Amino acid sequence: MPVLPTDISDEEFKQWVKEKWGYKKLPIAGSTPPGSAKFFRTGDWAAQRPKLIVENCISCLECYFLCPDSAITMETGDDDKAHPKFDYFYCKGCGICANECPGRKGEKAIIMEDI
Ligand code: SF4
Ligand code: SF4
Repeated sequence: MPVLPTDISDEEFKQWVKEKWGYKKLPIAGSTPPGSAKFFRTGDWAAQRPKLIVENCISCLECYFLCPDSAITMETGDDDKAHPKFDYFYCKGCGICANECPGRKGEKAIIMEDI
């Protein structure tokens, strides 16, 4: 298995993966270099996507911390409070954010919708 060189640029990394790996050469139970997922449109895998119900959001940041794909950024809403914004390029639709969102008084601030 070829070993990824350290300290290479994004372009060099993409070229390296194309030439050295391809999906047939991926390591068995191995690991990929940190940050490599940014090159892949993982949002294509999703069957559902999260939708914000802003009036139920208490700005707790739980969704932001728990998203496994860093597909959530927090942005200031019209109410001057922080609310999640979903990056559908990377969101795989796993539903963790919706499951873990405490919402307001039991009403979820994130629901999952079919695509
Ligand atoms: S987990 Fe729910 S309540 Fe907390 S910031 Fe995210 S959307 Fe808002
Ligand atoms: S559905 Fe999953 S991948 Fe998408 S924003 Fe929520 S936690 Fe992140």
